[in-house]
Amino acid sequence: MTGTILVCGGAGYIGSHMVRLLADRGFEVVVFDDLSTGHRESIANVELVEGDVRDAAALDALFGAFRFEAVMHFCAKSLVGESVLKPLEYYENNVGGSISLVQAMQRHGVDKLVFSSTAAVFGEPESELIDEDHPKSPLNPYGHSKLMVERMLADVAAAHGLRAVALRYFNAAGASLAGGIGESHDPETHLIPNVLKAAAGSGPRLKVFGTDYDTRDGTCVRDYIHVDDLARAHLAALEFMTREEGFHAFNLGNGQGFSVLEVIQAAGKVVGRDVPYEVAERRAGDPAVLVASSALAAKKLGWQPEITDLEAIIESAWHWHREQRY
Ligand code: NAD
Ligand code: UDP
Repeated sequence: MTGTILVCGGAGYIGSHMVRLLADRGFEVVVFDDLSTGHRESIANVELVEGDVRDAAALDALFGAFRFEAVMHFCAKSLVGESVLKPLEYYENNVGGSISLVQAMQRHGVDKLVFSSTAAVFGEPESELIDEDHPKSPLNPYGHSKLMVERMLADVAAAHGLRAVALRYFNAAGASLAGGIGESHDPETHLIPNVLKAAAGSGPRLKVFGTDYDTRDGTCVRDYIHVDDLARAHLAALEFMTREEGFHAFNLGNGQGFSVLEVIQAAGKVVGRDVPYEVAERRAGDPAVLVASSALAAKKLGWQPEITDLEAIIESAWHWHREQRY
């Protein structure tokens, strides 16, 4: 596929890695972002149109100004804990924004969409590895909001011929090996950046949210997947949509789970010093274990993660943190 790709939310953590990969592969890229959590500096030299995906008039102007081959939709509020406290903001931005974007695509005759979904659509796992057929019972409003969008995309695909791929990322981690971009949220809630800040002494002592889960060491287990591997899956999804109609969902992870304490230990090795931490209460909405089976993505998208070693993933994040002088 060639042509211009609209990357909504392209100034954010994962979106900016996507934008870099698209540009490296010769695509024209336009970013649409309200910069609520994204950063203009992350997409230097790329066309940025500032606006909110919930703003139909702004989208009409955008789609009128460019001819898009496909859309990637990274915009969302995406913090599990915050979603429990502020559910309406999550439904409004994540569901409302997606409806508004798909309506604009329809008005302007654009029929291919890659949507950022999440492991949070599943809830507590009923099997060791979570595949696409696993029951969906989100434990928090964030997961519910993403599942609602998946449902909507499937319905719109059936009724109106939209081609859509939902990529359910497990825990995005790491940073571009080429440097210059990485994870930067304020406040930062994600584990790996907080571990690195604690190790560097530029953030507070890490709080380990719960040590009484039914896991090997009592802390939550997650599947950390490198952000550049996620970006590569989106390219594969673009190709896939040229061949396949309808709505499709794929789980994207490494298939390996690491506990919070294991991440702390691996980060200690990468940084060369112990990570100061303390035990804290469980965080609302957190399932004990989330580990992906990505066999379907391997089969249908021809995608496999390339950066699978946890220390290598943390090393790439550490490189970015040092660039930030944390
Ligand atoms: P991020 O907050 O860094 O990026 C989101 C981007 O969308 C930001 O640039 C923000 O300014 C923009 N945005 C948000 N609401 C908008 C709106 N209404 N209009 C226009 N722009 C808007 O988050 P991220 O970690 O890069 O996540 C990207 C996507 O991937 C999200 O949809 C998230 O739910 C999903 N996801 C992330 C993870 C993860 O581990 N980070 C895991 C699973 C799924
Ligand atoms: N976590 C933690 N301390 C932190 C941040 C996260 O113990 O400061 C735990 C959190 O409870 C979860 C895991 O680390 O079990 C990954 O959390 P993160 O917010 O990075 O991603 P999520 O799984 O919520 O998408």
